[in-house]
Amino acid sequence: MSLVVTSIGQLVTNDPAVGDGSPLGVLTGAALVVDDAGLVAWVGPAAQAPDADARLDVDGRTVVPGFVDSHAHLVFAGDRSEEFAARMAGQAYGAGGIASTVAATRAAPDDVLRANLRRLVGEMRAGGTTTVECKSGYGLTVDDEARSLRLAGEVTAETTYLGAHVVPAEYRDDRDAYVDLVRGAMLDACAPHARWVDVFCDRGAFDADETRAILHAGMERGLLPRLHGNQLQHGPGVQVGVEVGASSVDHCTHLDDADVAALAASDTVATLLPGAEFSTRSTYPDARRLLDAGATVALATDCNPGSSYTSSMALCVALAVREMRMTPAEALWSATAGGAAALRRHDVGALRPGGRADLAVLDAPSYVHLAYRPGVPLVQRTLTAGA
Ligand SMILES: [Zn+2]
Repeated sequence: MSLVVTSIGQLVTNDPAVGDGSPLGVLTGAALVVDDAGLVAWVGPAAQAPDADARLDVDGRTVVPGFVDSHAHLVFAGDRSEEFAARMAGQAYGAGGIASTVAATRAAPDDVLRANLRRLVGEMRAGGTTTVECKSGYGLTVDDEARSLRLAGEVTAETTYLGAHVVPAEYRDDRDAYVDLVRGAMLDACAPHARWVDVFCDRGAFDADETRAILHAGMERGLLPRLHGNQLQHGPGVQVGVEVGASSVDHCTHLDDADVAALAASDTVATLLPGAEFSTRSTYPDARRLLDAGATVALATDCNPGSSYTSSMALCVALAVREMRMTPAEALWSATAGGAAALRRHDVGALRPGGRADLAVLDAPSYVHLAYRPGVPLVQRTLTAGA
């Protein structure tokens, strides 16, 4: 059944060929037609919209492409609110807190993990997110990593093998054996359930050589590389990511000029995760520096129980504008088209004919309200493939 979404006060298409000629391709007084396959069939002035089987009148509201959240850790059990409270009372954040989630996740039955995962995906959808990436990384055994990815695959095609999240306690005295497991038997069990391979390349996690070895092993099994890098301190993450052709290096908080230049000269996306800096009371990455150098920037939630327990892309947009020197237009682009670039997806992140009709209706007169009205639930309705 085809659908016309009409009386759109402001329509953000992310198609620079239409509308005001900006990267957001903004149309006013617009309509959008969805075909019976859930793809965008037409966008243009409401008065010229072709007929469709059904009609959704949004009464002058704003329509934006659905958010593409390209970085999330949603398969876990347990709660780390006490750790958050301790951190807010002055304790420092390190990669070690992950161990408590690993213990809770290993102990949880599938149904508990599945219910938590579905709850979070529902929360994301209600907040306007229509594509989400989901990592393993709280199992850290062959069976628990494979289980995490099977569960993630129930909610998204963007599944990421993150056996290299941290070295688990039982391998603390033999990290080489753990790296061998991650690139050997664990990879064998996980590769059939994953699209991506990821490594946490940072202080307290994995070094440059370990990161290269694990990413190359994943790539040999047909997985696409991405990584966590330069979050906690300056390190080799960005350079390793660009070297292996990673789709994205995520965090990018501590960069030197060579890192910025390497990102700008490559098609590796810099994915910024301001929820992590917010929740760990850390210095934000400098998005302006990356944008001015010509790098492609994405925004994502990093939704996880330790360092960023938010599912709200709107919060990330607001933080990016307020704290990272992005304009509202740049932040919205990065949260939609930027996320699609980080996931190498051409069918999402924009509203143009042939793309998927994934959109969020904002109860606001313009997309600027996403940053102008922080913390306010402006998403009135979310459509995925037109439904
Ligand atoms: Zn992460």
